[in-house]
Amino acid sequence: MSQPFRAFESKLFEALWTEQSGVCALCGEPMLRNRFEAPHATIWAKQRVTVDHIIPRSKGGSDAAENLQLAHARCNKIKGNRL
Ligand SMILES: [Zn+2]
Repeated sequence: MSQPFRAFESKLFEALWTEQSGVCALCGEPMLRNRFEAPHATIWAKQRVTVDHIIPRSKGGSDAAENLQLAHARCNKIKGNRL
């Protein structure tokens, strides 16, 4: 599930981004870190990075780093609440 933009500025985000080398945890394609890297707003909307809960919060997953990964907004949405 996506988190507010403030999460992007956190150390946790930096750690996850570095660990994943800016690549989506779900599809393996590069992600856009900020909107200025996107040539068009619709591309940004689909390819922007979001924080994904590996185990969804609705299924009892926590906000701890071990349960978080970075994924495209698009991929995060497709995954939804599935494990
Ligand atoms: Zn993806």
